[in-house]
Formats: sequence, structure tokens, C-alpha cells
Amino acid sequence: MLDKRSGSRLANLWDDAKAQGMSEPELLVYRSNTLGSDKRVTNYGGGNTSSKIWQKDPLTGQDVEVLWVKGSGGDSASIKLDGFATLYMDKLQALKGLYRGVEHEDEMVGYLPHCTFNLNPRAASIDTPLHAYVPKPFVDHMHPDAIIAIAAAKDSRALTKEIFGDAIGWLPWKRPGFELGLWLEKFCLEHPTAKGVILESHGLFSWGDTPRECYETTISVINQAIEWFERRSEGVAIFGGEVVKSLDATQRRAIAAKLMPRIRGLISEKGHKLGHFDDSAAVLEFVNSRDLRPLAALGTSCPDHFLRTKIRPLVIEFDPAKPDVDAVVARLADDVAEYRVGYQAYYDSCKHPDSPAIRDTNAVVYLMPGVGMFTFAGDKATARISGEFYVNAINVMRGASTVSSYVGLPAQEAFDIEYWLLEDLKLQRMPKPKSLAGQIALVTGGAGGIGRATASRLLREGACVVLADIDEAALANANEELAQAHGKDFVRPVLIDVTSEDQVVAGFVETAVEFGGVDILVSNAGLASSAPIEETTLALWNKNMDILSTGYFLVAREAFRLFRAQKIGGNVVFVASKNGLAASPNAAAYCTAKAAEIHLARCLALEGAEAQIRVNVVNPDAVLRGSKIWTGEWKEQRAAAYKMSTDDLEEHYRSRSMLKRSVFPEDIAEAIYFLASDMSAKSTGNIINVDAGNAQSFTR
Ligand code: NAD
Repeated sequence: MLDKRSGSRLANLWDDAKAQGMSEPELLVYRSNTLGSDKRVTNYGGGNTSSKIWQKDPLTGQDVEVLWVKGSGGDSASIKLDGFATLYMDKLQALKGLYRGVEHEDEMVGYLPHCTFNLNPRAASIDTPLHAYVPKPFVDHMHPDAIIAIAAAKDSRALTKEIFGDAIGWLPWKRPGFELGLWLEKFCLEHPTAKGVILESHGLFSWGDTPRECYETTISVINQAIEWFERRSEGVAIFGGEVVKSLDATQRRAIAAKLMPRIRGLISEKGHKLGHFDDSAAVLEFVNSRDLRPLAALGTSCPDHFLRTKIRPLVIEFDPAKPDVDAVVARLADDVAEYRVGYQAYYDSCKHPDSPAIRDTNAVVYLMPGVGMFTFAGDKATARISGEFYVNAINVMRGASTVSSYVGLPAQEAFDIEYWLLEDLKLQRMPKPKSLAGQIALVTGGAGGIGRATASRLLREGACVVLADIDEAALANANEELAQAHGKDFVRPVLIDVTSEDQVVAGFVETAVEFGGVDILVSNAGLASSAPIEETTLALWNKNMDILSTGYFLVAREAFRLFRAQKIGGNVVFVASKNGLAASPNAAAYCTAKAAEIHLARCLALEGAEAQIRVNVVNPDAVLRGSKIWTGEWKEQRAAAYKMSTDDLEEHYRSRSMLKRSVFPEDIAEAIYFLASDMSAKSTGNIINVDAGNAQSFTR
């Protein structure tokens, strides 16, 4: 087996009961989802599936053969009917007459939209001719680690023959496109009994006369490879054997928390990056091995892999037996700079006159012996997926180097894919990033009314958000709701009490490990209390001071430390209160603590400015809806103070305001977003009152 940790053979998940009654297109969706459900069959977004289906032509009413093939983008595991492009087979066949030869193959992509059946808007992918010209009704093209390990071995052709005999053929490396489609067709015509073909340095094509046969062939070919690897790797020292030992899990995370913000700072000059940490057994086996450096230097092989990971990772030199993290930190800028020089050299030596301009020169994957792997990208999902792809690459290297020698893709071939004009057009078509894309925000009191609304606002703008709160049940609930609305990659909960120094430090460690650092702190955790001064106990006084004053100090201090490690500025927004500016009867402890918050913000604005750290304040007033503060004693005390029922309070505050309007959590969130974003890039030390107008709290 390639990786003994990944479980045994693939199960045959085809279920006739489920498949019964499905239309041909539905069967294609079912086959694709079933294949994609196991990452050992294909990596995220990798590979594609197709069916050739006879359908009525909407124009002529005649039966025509239509190629249904996974469209550009998307993932087999989750693809639905609308993820498939549909093209007339006769028109696709006719394209052969227009083909001017391999040096012109890219122009054939422009003809694909002309073959569209039924005005389907889904763009056909570059792999379309590969499916069209295989003369079989059902075709799978998967990227299984076990097969790519064979495809990336030095003697891949001989290994294919040894494992599969004549059942599975072999074709040398060829970039996907029209020419490869013709090669596949030729292969099938010359080998009518073959069930599939391995494409060197790439993946597997397999086919069948029914959807089920096609699926089962794919699964059994992969299982055959897994079984063969299992036998052949018996007793072999994987990656040349272990030369260093892993640190324990807590140490690994502590080191990740220290290094990730620093790496992020060094590589975020053209847009902030998000990080992902992986210290799984598969990664540790590789980074602790004797062959780490030579194998990493060879680069990844499958084109899908390195499009996300870049051809090579950056290996951080570190000896876990004598862990000197400060030395690593001191060297980091040089390591990053050296990688960039290497990448520039790769670009310069491989570029063509019409190549797209060089893109980001920084590494995506960072490998550290004893610790694990960090990956960075413009958004969290891509950072995570890049990490998953590198794990695929590790699996491939494990397999190939165990039974033979691993060969990476030649630099020129890699470059021609990375800077392929067609790929570049795809990148250019990507939607513009949202205003807070790449930003990481930590929101204290994130499970409360204003905190949750703020998190939601920042998430909508593309930020990743850590919800920090002391209320475990409310935190879980907020996390679930926001992850559902905005995607799991974007939200993390951390259970902390902002009055505990240790817990605050731990919360920022979590943030750094989960996302790579922090850009925005929204300090918002709070409470409200009411009592005349004679009845204000020391405990009540201290509680207000602890949460609102000391708590704000602790989280701000930790954020500052992280900002200074990253060296890419930072942004702090304190949620204080109208009561921090305007004295209120019977709330001395609360008002004083809120006033301390506001002054703390001003002091920090002064200290942070030279490092581009901005600190501003939002003062809400009377935000009743959604707020937990307004469900308890405070509500009753306020109602009693104004001699009215609690039900009348909202109306009381509305009519008391100058603008005669109620204030909602979303209104506070909007002001926080403004201060947290570049829209307010030139404001620091400021206060925005969001209270529907209250002359007492006018700032002066
Ligand atoms: P809320 O009670 O709904 O939310 C506050 C959150 O802070 C809660 O989820 C709570 O669990 C959390 N929290 C409390 N103590 C904590 C601690 N020690 N550590 C971590 N988390 C803790 O209240 P809200 O209305 O959303 O208030 C948010 C902020 O706005 C507070 O600072 C509050 O003082 C301020 N504010 C609110 C109003 C208003 O009318 N709602 C007015 C002015 C100021």
C-alpha cells in the first residue's frame, strides 16, 4: 500500500438500488460523486468524467450523440448536473478537420463553444477532446495517488506493464489538449481490449460500456496498484528512513504559531495571505526523512498538484533535536528571498516571448522537519487545498521512490502548464476579491449580539473570523450558523475568558495556527451592570474593570504582539459605549470601565501608528435586539430606572434619540467594518458613535 495510514483498499460503492431509475445524465452525476467521495481516487478538483448520451436535438428533434463532460472548474465529489458541459459529438469529430497540428493546438479551445449542445452555459474544459475521442460511451479520468506514483516513476512504462499486463496501456507525458485527445483515440483503436491507459506524470484514463462497468474498472485498477505497492514496499525504508523525530503536538503548534505570522508577513506584500498548518502522520514521515531535501527539490509531478503548490516547496532548516526557533526566525527573510530568486530564475529560463507576466514569486508550501507543513494562499480554502495537494504529492513520491526513482515534471513542461495562456485566461476571469479577502479578524464576544453581527459582516467581505467567547454553548451555535452561511474554512471558535492572560495568549496562538496570523481585532466582549455607587460592591466594580478594561488591554496587547511579528500593520476596533463618554446614573462601574477602554484605544493609536496599526472606537447605545445584555437584569434595572415596563424600553430609547431611530447590531457592525477596512485607512484614534444621535456623547 502507498500509505498504510490511508486505510485499506477502496470499497466498491456502486449501489444499483440507488442508480435504478436514474437518467443517463443523473447516472453521470452519481458516478462522479461516488468517485470523488474518496480523495484516494482523485484530488480536489482533479480529473473529470464523461458520458456520451443520445438525446433529442432541440432544433431538429433528431436523436444526436451528446458528450456530457465535467466542465471547467468544480469538483467531482460535489458536481451537479449544471457542472457538466454538453457538446455535439458530430461537431467535436468535425474539429479534427480544422486541426493544424500540435503547435496550434491551443486554438482548438476556441472552437469548443461552437460545439455546445442546448445553449449550455458551462464552459468546456481543456480536457474535453480527451474524453470526446476515446471511442467509448463512459470515460473516467482520475488522479489517484497510487496511479500517479506509477506515472511519476522513472520506469513508469515498464511498471505499468508489470502490474497491469495489456489491460492498461501507457502514454508518454503530453500536456492535456487536442493532441493528447488524438493520441488517446489512436491508442484505443490500436488496443481494442484495453480498459484504460496511464498517462505519464499525470493520471489514469479508464472506460466502460456501462456507467457501472466504467466506475468498477476505475476502482479495481486503483486497487490493483495499491495492492502491488503494498507488496513491493514491504520492508523498504520509506523515503530513506527517519533521520529526525517529531516534536510533540503542543510544541509543533507553538512553533507553527510563532513562524506562520512571520512567514505571512514576509510574503504578503502584494496582498495578505492565509495560512494552513498540517502535521499529519503522512507529512511528518516525509519532513523527518533522509530524502526530504532531494525529493522536495525534484518538484511535484501531476500538473494539478503543482499548479496549486508551485513546482517546489521551501524547506525550512531545523533540527528538532536541538530546537532553536529563534535562529529559524532570524534566517526566515533570507530563506524567503532565496526562494524568490530561484523562482525568478525558473521563470526567466523557461519563459516564451508571449508568456504571461511572472506571478507571485513566493513559495506556497513550507516544510519543517519535526514540525510539519505550512501552506499559504490568497484565501483559506486554497491554502488548505494546496496543503492537501502537497500531501497527494508526498503520497506519489512515497510510492514512486519506494519501487523505483521518482521523477518530477521537467521544469519547461511545468512552466508551460503554470504559464499556459489558457490557464492565465482562466485566472483573469476570476471574480475580483472581496474587500477583506486575505484578512483575519478576531472578534471577542463573538457569540453575542453585536459580535455575531460583526463576524457576519466581516465574513461577507471575505475575511476569515475567529469567534472568541466565554459562553461555550452560544459560541458553538454562532460558529455553526456562520460556518453554514459562509463556509467552514472561514470561521473558527475559540473558547476564552478575556480576563485570563493565559487564555488570551492561547486564543491568539490558535488564531495564528488556524489562519496564519491576525489583521483585525474587534474587542467587544462585555457586560452591563447597574447599581448606585453606595450599592456597588467591590466584586461588581472589579468585574466591570476585569472584562471591559483589563480584558480589552489583554487582547489588544496580544494583537499588537502578533501585528509586530507580522510587520504588515494591523487594525483594532474597540466596542465601547456611549456611557464611556456620557455619565449615566447608577452605572458608575460600567461607565468608568468603558471610559478606560476609550482612553486605552487612544493610547494604543499613538503607539501603533509607526507600525501602521490603527486603533479606533465604536460607541453603541441601546442595541436591544440580539443582545444578551438586554435579556437579563440590566434590562429590568434600566426599565425600573425609567419607571416603565421592559417592553417599552426599545420605544423609549428610540424616541430619546435625536434621529428617532432604533439602533441594531447590524448598524454597529457596519461602523466596525468601516473602521476595520481600508475605507478608513487614514483614521486612527477616532470614535464613531452609533446611537441614533445623542448630544451628550458628541465628541469634542
Ligand atoms: P451580548 O451580551 O449579546 O454579547 C457580549 C458577549 O461577550 C457575550 O457573548 C458574552 O458571552 C461575551 N463575554 C462576556 N464576558 C466575557 C469574557 N470574560 N470573555 C469572553 N467573552 C465574554 O452583548 P452585546 O450587546 O452584543 O455587547 C457587545 C459589546 O457592546 C459590549 O462590550 C457592550 O458593553 C457594548 N455595548 C452594548 C450596548 C447595547 O446596547 N447592546 C450598548 C453599548 C455598548
